[in-house]
Amino acid sequence: MPNALLYAGGSDILRAQAGRSLALPAEIILLGSVAELRQVALSERFVEIGAAVSLAEILELRENAVPELLLKTLRLVATPSVRSLATIGGNLAAQDRFMDAWPALACLDALAECRRGTESRWVNVNRFVDAEGRPSLPPGSLVTRIRLPLDVWDLSAARKIGTKDYPGRSTAVFAFLARADKGILADFRLAFAGERAIRDRDIETRILGRRLPLPARERETRAAEYRERAAGLPPAMAAAFAALVDGAFDLLSR
Ligand SMILES: Cc1cc2nc3c(=O)[nH]c(=O)nc-3n(C[C@H](O)[C@H](O)[C@H](O)COP(=O)(O)OP(=O)(O)OC[C@H]3O[C@@H](n4cnc5c(N)ncnc54)[C@H](O)[C@@H]3O)c2cc1C
Repeated sequence: MPNALLYAGGSDILRAQAGRSLALPAEIILLGSVAELRQVALSERFVEIGAAVSLAEILELRENAVPELLLKTLRLVATPSVRSLATIGGNLAAQDRFMDAWPALACLDALAECRRGTESRWVNVNRFVDAEGRPSLPPGSLVTRIRLPLDVWDLSAARKIGTKDYPGRSTAVFAFLARADKGILADFRLAFAGERAIRDRDIETRILGRRLPLPARERETRAAEYRERAAGLPPAMAAAFAALVDGAFDLLSR
């Protein structure tokens, strides 16, 4: 059924409907009834979460089964009742804007298993962004699982700006991760997304290998690069992003 609507929790599909009766296409595939999409598999190095697992169910998984950054992010999504419907696959597959999970999944270098017809492949979620920074899950793709590495991080943070419980134009989520090794910044990842996404691996690479606390000059140079990167965002959002980048660098400067 190539034209069928993929319906997971339905929270985003129904959010777009303002009428008194629902308008849905004749062909719908209910992903919640596909057992394979409801599974969670944990190994020493990864957790694989079925696309139709709800955000509430992820928050209830046992301790250390899910990266702390994703848990922090999912707690920022809407209300408990929306989180019990909303699925991780539906959050990642939104077409008109990025939903809240993307920045954390991007920082974690999560892989999504995408199926089209009989073809199946693992794609880094950072590739679901087009040249203008907008969502670009290939049309007709079914996300079946999301694989998250269970690495250990020294710092992880997620912040939301704008309308808290609803995806508005002023809403965006910021996420960052850092790890030090013998006083040296060994890994650093930072992502931001609302209507458009920012993840700049070149800036991340330039900051790696610096001794901590981060020297003031290094911090100023990288903060300026991030400000330049955000120049295309609406001014209030660019200012909020710059303040969040400063906050992340504060943590690395102590
Ligand atoms: C009141 C309200 C508040 C909300 N607040 C927030 C918020 O604070 N933060 C936030 O991030 N979101 C929020 N949302 C949006 C929504 O709840 C989430 O994005 C949710 O995770 C979507 O998941 P779902 O399973 O309900 O997706 P659905 O509505 O079922 O589907 C959304 C889209 O993804 C496609 N899709 C679904 N699953 C897959 C799949 N496995 N593979 C490919 N395509 C798929 C569908 O075809 C559809 O196009 C809110 C929604 C409502 C109604």
